[in-house]
Amino acid sequence: MGLQVHQFACLADNYGFLLHDEATKSTAVIDTPEVGPINAALASRGWALTHILNTHHHFDHAGGNEALKQQWGAMVVGAANDAARIPGIDVRVSDGEQFQFGSAAAQVLEVPGHTTGHIAYYFADSGIAFVGDTLFALGCGRLFEGSPSDMWTSLNKLMALPDDTVVYCAHEYTQANANFALSVEPNNAALVARVAEIAELRSRGEPTVPTTIGKEKATNPFLRPTSADLQQTIGLVGADAVAVFAETRRRKDNF
Ligand SMILES: [Zn+2]
Repeated sequence: MGLQVHQFACLADNYGFLLHDEATKSTAVIDTPEVGPINAALASRGWALTHILNTHHHFDHAGGNEALKQQWGAMVVGAANDAARIPGIDVRVSDGEQFQFGSAAAQVLEVPGHTTGHIAYYFADSGIAFVGDTLFALGCGRLFEGSPSDMWTSLNKLMALPDDTVVYCAHEYTQANANFALSVEPNNAALVARVAEIAELRSRGEPTVPTTIGKEKATNPFLRPTSADLQQTIGLVGADAVAVFAETRRRKDNF
């Protein structure tokens, strides 16, 4: 039996995710943005929290670690190279390592850029990935601690996953990301079509997360530095991928 994912809203625009393995009754929360909604989600499904899988140290991702660990006795998993900033960390994981969650295996991917110790969890058998603040629907995380080159390398690791991988991003930023994406790649027909779908979903108050790797590769400007349309718009025709990515990110920061 595969893993079940339960997605719910936290704080202003975060998503919380419960991950449940029925075979072992293990339940993880991916990051701990807000204790109240996490406990409400657990109660609604009748699940008991056994694991906290952290993607990075920011308060809207690890702020509930201590309270939830104390309440449930949950095991806290986080990046070995950022352990000092992950409250309550029990298990330290590194790039390429497999972490056993119940009857499922998560592959740990180090994806620095947004923070130096950011990691993603990829469950190959279920075809799902939890990417925190590294990749968003039509966007990517801000470069608070890493360089454009770090982030581009990290995004390439995610782009190497199968196109049908279901990607759970940690924020609902898609509408704003869509406006920016259209401004830099106005002639991408797949993007134009997707932006219309997004407007439709948001007008009904529905989430645009999860997304897929394939969808992002076709429409997310941060994954498309080789796009002639993008290169032309930002005035970097023929430039290398890192330079185009860096300029795209800089423009989004000022959009
Ligand atoms: Zn963050």
